[in-house]
Amino acid sequence: MFKLGITGGIGSGKTTAAKYFEDIGAKIFNADKEAKKHLKNTSSLQHKIINAFGEAVTENNKLSIKKLAEVAFSSKIEQEILNGLMWPEVFILIENKIKEYEAQKNKLFILDAAMIFEGNFEHILDSTLLISSKKEIRIKRALKRRNLHLEQIQNRMSLQMIEADKKKCADYIIENNGILEDFHESLKKYHKSLPI
Ligand code: ATP
Repeated sequence: MFKLGITGGIGSGKTTAAKYFEDIGAKIFNADKEAKKHLKNTSSLQHKIINAFGEAVTENNKLSIKKLAEVAFSSKIEQEILNGLMWPEVFILIENKIKEYEAQKNKLFILDAAMIFEGNFEHILDSTLLISSKKEIRIKRALKRRNLHLEQIQNRMSLQMIEADKKKCADYIIENNGILEDFHESLKKYHKSLPI
């Protein structure tokens, strides 16, 4: 099974790319979605997080995901503390999924994650694909989703690894600044180049 990591900044088109591969049979692990699900279902992790951040992340003595997001995205330090608690557990989830999909003889596994290089997740992958888009376009796409304000989007962007550094780390880069049809065409060409 070929293990591919798809990464990129907020609104770059990672999940759109992952969906393209899912539609042609790949197995997808969306790190953000799976990490949130794991946190909701794992009280030991919730307690570790409450111990680290205190009352700033609780409501009625329970972990509030909304408050946690506010705290974790307030500064690099807070984000690193949260990542230090979350990532080892997410890493195990990814490894287990890889084993499961490998046993089922799947051909392509995709890790869809914004922070592949920051978390050193590339070491368990065969290759990495960076989806790169201009900042203004990414902001417009993220605003359209309506779950975050401009300031929150810009703040989250400022906490992500800068694009130039991601480009140095990635095995392959696809630009996604045009229409969806062009993006799909680039993904199709890239898929053909994979050794699967
Ligand atoms: P995030 O990290 O914020 O979850 P992402 O990198 O996974 O973002 P997507 O969710 O794939 O990005 O894309 C963000 C939004 O932009 C989606 O609504 C998607 O449909 C849209 N989008 C992506 N690429 C294009 C494109 N080339 N043309 C038009 N819309 C696009």
